[in-house]
Amino acid sequence: MEAVDDAAAPPLPYSAACPRWSDALRLLTRGGPSTAPDFSAPASAEVLASLRNDLRVLVVGAGGLGCELLKDLALAGFGRIDVIDMDTIDVSNLNRQFLFRASDVGKPKAEVAAAYIRARVPGLAITAHVGDLTRRPPEWYAQFNLIVAGLDSIDARRWLNATLVSLVGADAETGEVDRSGLIPWIDGGSEGLMGQARVIFPRLSACFECTLSMFDTPKTYPLCTLANTPRLPEHCVEYAHVVEYPRASPFGEGVAFDADNPDHLTWLTDTAAARADKFSIPGVTRRLAAGVVKHIVPAVASTNAVIAAACAAEAWKLATSVAGPLRNYVMLNGTSGVYSYTYETERRPDCEVCGGGGVPRTVTLDSGEVLLEDLLDTLAAEPALRTRAPVLRVASTGAMVWAADGPPALVAATRANAGKRVEELLERGGELVVTDRAMGGARTVIVTWP
Ligand SMILES: [Zn+2]
Repeated sequence: MEAVDDAAAPPLPYSAACPRWSDALRLLTRGGPSTAPDFSAPASAEVLASLRNDLRVLVVGAGGLGCELLKDLALAGFGRIDVIDMDTIDVSNLNRQFLFRASDVGKPKAEVAAAYIRARVPGLAITAHVGDLTRRPPEWYAQFNLIVAGLDSIDARRWLNATLVSLVGADAETGEVDRSGLIPWIDGGSEGLMGQARVIFPRLSACFECTLSMFDTPKTYPLCTLANTPRLPEHCVEYAHVVEYPRASPFGEGVAFDADNPDHLTWLTDTAAARADKFSIPGVTRRLAAGVVKHIVPAVASTNAVIAAACAAEAWKLATSVAGPLRNYVMLNGTSGVYSYTYETERRPDCEVCGGGGVPRTVTLDSGEVLLEDLLDTLAAEPALRTRAPVLRVASTGAMVWAADGPPALVAATRANAGKRVEELLERGGELVVTDRAMGGARTVIVTWP
């Protein structure tokens, strides 16, 4: 490799003598066939200075992808990094979440990861935030210039998506976007040997909700989440399945769990419901339990490494303008051979989050005698809704039908409605206003029956 010529280059914020930054400098100090048309090499000193001193990047998640992301971004020259995660370190994380050691088990991931990076890459301002990302207000996100996420949940992504879209104003008549509030979001995801990375410019390119139909209903969860911070009914079912069933051996020592055995499923549903109660998580049903226990995909360290590298490269490209961004979705498939595929996802004009919203969805029940709890299952299974903890009101009267989220008194007040017939609560063809923290914004659903 050629050495960077110190004498010819303007003063640099990161010493060119330090081999750590030599590759970054090489990319910034000369053009090439891949550089963006408006890239000018002489500005590189300022670019690297701003990368270190001005640009604030938020890393969402400090798990398998998050550890890789933090390492990649820190070594790429990003100088102001924040990281948010609510989980604590479990012993099962240690094989791939390499910023953690056995002595860190039980400590918050964000804090331990930040401390490790701080010690390893001096001069970096890295701040840890321990807590639920969905409890932060939009203004909190507005302080960052760039968001890179390595999340394991579709719900958290939907929430983040709605928040980032809400920060971008658009003219109601012309649709013209006010870019001042725009924060680019680079999203990575991995499941076993499959992974994906994408670049989202809220309101300008396809948002997460625009392409929600690409994702199956999530079926895999890391054990640390199941054990320490369950927040979905699925987490409780999975915990009952993989941890409590072997421990209790309710059908005799050594009898394997059989998802097709009704007794086994009843035990699982009851056990999961008890755990869900303990964490105040609504939504454990027999149908859900049966759906969850089919398979678990293990986390693969190499998939995380590839996807995080792709995300960090995109972050670096956006921050330095050395090359144009990914347009806008790349998937990695390692299950049959190894290949990647890049394509451009498109905005949906009727997207409920970044578009016009379109027409209300219609749910057709078999009859008005269907119970509300079954309607709730139906809404959760609707690909475009996927409610988790929904709040339902009758559109015409404002009457509260169901509240799975909100003040405890409100939640308790609607609990008895679960066993009521839908026709007792809503007239045929009536409209329900559905809100859910996972969805962002309210949706109107027409409920009808023959
Ligand atoms: Zn959208």
